[in-house]
Amino acid sequence: MITIQSFEFNYFQENTFLLYDDTREAVLIDCGCCRKEEEQKLSAFISDNQLTLKHLLCTHLHVDHTFGNSFIYKTYGLRPEAHKLDVEQLPPADEQARLFGIRQHVEQVPTEKFLVGNEIIRFGNSELQVLTVPGHSPGSVAFYSQKNGFVIVGDALFAGSIGRTDLWGGNQEILVAAIRDKILSLPDETVIYPGHGPETRVIDEKFDNPYL
Ligand SMILES: [Zn+2]
Ligand SMILES: [Zn+2]
Repeated sequence: MITIQSFEFNYFQENTFLLYDDTREAVLIDCGCCRKEEEQKLSAFISDNQLTLKHLLCTHLHVDHTFGNSFIYKTYGLRPEAHKLDVEQLPPADEQARLFGIRQHVEQVPTEKFLVGNEIIRFGNSELQVLTVPGHSPGSVAFYSQKNGFVIVGDALFAGSIGRTDLWGGNQEILVAAIRDKILSLPDETVIYPGHGPETRVIDEKFDNPYL
C-alpha cells in the first residue's frame, strides 16, 4: 500500500506529496519547499522514515510546484521529470517568480526525463500511471494509482473548481475536456489530490463542480 504524506509549502500554499510504500522507496511530487524551515521539514521526514527517493515528479512546471527542485537535486541527486511541453513552453522558474512578484532566486534544474503520458512510474512494489491533463499548462500531467484508488492532479482540478487558464499556454476548453476524459472517467470513489486545497473524490466533482 502507498502512504501519502502531504506538505503545504511556499507563498502559494502549494501541496507537495511524498509517496512511499513498505519497501521505504519513495517518490516526491511537486516539491514546492522554498524556505529553509520547509526544506528541513521535508528532509527530516525523509530521514526519520528512512525513505529512499527514487523520482522527483512534476505535475507541471509552474514555479509554485518547482521551488524545491534545486534543493532536492543538491541533497538527493535527483533531477525533475516533467512533460516536454512545459519544459519548452514555460519561462524559467526564476522568471516566473519575478512575474509573480517574488524576489527570491529560484535555480533551474535541467529535466532528467520527459513524461509523455500512459507510462508507468515504479518505486518499491508500487506504480503510478501518468495521465496527460493539458489546459492549465500545455504539459500538465496527473499521477494515478488504480490499486490505491487515488490520483494526484496538480492544478488541473480543485475541489469545486478548476485550474486557471490565463497563464502560458492555458486553454479552458482543452482543460475541461481533459478533466472529463482522464479524471472523471476514473472510478467514482477515486480520491483526488489537487495542487492546492483539500482532497476530493471523482464522484463529488462529477456532480458538484460547476465548471464541469
Ligand atoms: Zn499551476
Ligand atoms: Zn499551483
